[in-house]
Amino acid sequence: MGSHLCDLLLGKGHEVICIDNLVTGNTRNIEHIDSDKFTYLKHDITKPIYFGDKIDYIFHLASPASPIDYLDLPIQTLKVGALGTYNLLGLAKEQGARFLLASTSEVYGDPQVNPQPESYWGNVNPIGPRGVYDEAKRYAEAITMAYHRYHGVDTRIVRIFNTYGPRMRIDDGRVVPNFIGQALRGEGLTVYGDGKQTRSFCYVSDEVDGIYRLMMSDYDLPVNVGNPDEHTILEFAEKVLKIIGSDSQIVFRELPVDDPKVRRPDISRAKDVLGWEPVVGLREGLERTMGYFQRYLMNSA
Ligand code: UDP
Repeated sequence: MGSHLCDLLLGKGHEVICIDNLVTGNTRNIEHIDSDKFTYLKHDITKPIYFGDKIDYIFHLASPASPIDYLDLPIQTLKVGALGTYNLLGLAKEQGARFLLASTSEVYGDPQVNPQPESYWGNVNPIGPRGVYDEAKRYAEAITMAYHRYHGVDTRIVRIFNTYGPRMRIDDGRVVPNFIGQALRGEGLTVYGDGKQTRSFCYVSDEVDGIYRLMMSDYDLPVNVGNPDEHTILEFAEKVLKIIGSDSQIVFRELPVDDPKVRRPDISRAKDVLGWEPVVGLREGLERTMGYFQRYLMNSA
């Protein structure tokens, strides 16, 4: 998502400093950028960072975001949500910059209301395996609001729902790269549990458009940005098979602990405040993503 946001910002004429410690990212995703307004710095934002130059906006997207990544990197996930957010809020305060936190639908945990409005406080297991991500992001929201209220830092909070598109890692373990990779390789599609759990998938260009609009708005409470088109995972697997024209089987695997049973954003606030709603449908988004993974597999063969 970060590289797509860099593309959008450069397209709008901004100067961009992109920071990543590459724990889950890859510089391949920014290789296409050829601009003297772009700088990449390899840095871990859990360590403080200072800039002599004036920074106007800070987008804090740093974190492992795939369940298998944050299960593999539990301490780093907690540290980047806590210390990373603290360091960047300090930078925003010092620079007088506007700060946007990339929060998540995971703050709603395994929700007991569907769709989820921003007013819902969530149902999170703090000591479960997903707690490292959910609680880090909940803490990140809390410290963002504290810097806003106590220090007057200009802050924004976006709650990002499942997002997909080109430049995801094919092995990042999330359902979109898993299913597309499995279908392209002729392997079985691994549906966890009975596949009745739901998710709503947002194409990356829609997501970064919503994030940019929020940054440029004057709204300082959390805003859900995601696609409300909700599907069961089993329906989703069938859809991927149909679009790819694959005759792969569906195979059932154990449901991960605390896997949310439903997820769908209520996007009334994003519509009202940002004039935003997604425009890329699931078929179109999946076709574009599939094209990317096809090229990726061909080049790495
Ligand atoms: N899932 C699945 N098969 C996979 C990967 C994921 O059935 O190979 C399910 C997973 O259990 C969850 C949903 O798909 O219910 C979305 O999983 P993902 O890891 O993409 O993100 P999450 O929404 O859980 O953060």
